[in-house]
Amino acid sequence: MPELLCEPLCQHCQQAPRRRPRGLCHGCHKDKEVRLLYPQRASKYNNRGVCPDFAGEAMLPPPAEATPGPAKFATLAARAAAGLALFHPRDRQPSLD
Ligand SMILES: [Zn+2]
Repeated sequence: MPELLCEPLCQHCQQAPRRRPRGLCHGCHKDKEVRLLYPQRASKYNNRGVCPDFAGEAMLPPPAEATPGPAKFATLAARAAAGLALFHPRDRQPSLD
């Protein structure tokens, strides 16, 4: 094992630098059974919004009458602040005229 290695080591074999997702080295990451031992963490890029849940598990707000524009943005901000889902399936849709 290299002693002056600055990179963190693979969390499975502790022998090679972790250069693959899940904190694994190339060799361990290639092995599907080893990969399954280490769940993949959510990407830091997936958690940037103000709403706590974009995956549809937050409570639905009442449908909004506001059309897309400043009033709809205010509605979305209020929903996010309240921890509700941002969109309701029956939100007023823009007219396609
Ligand atoms: Zn490894």
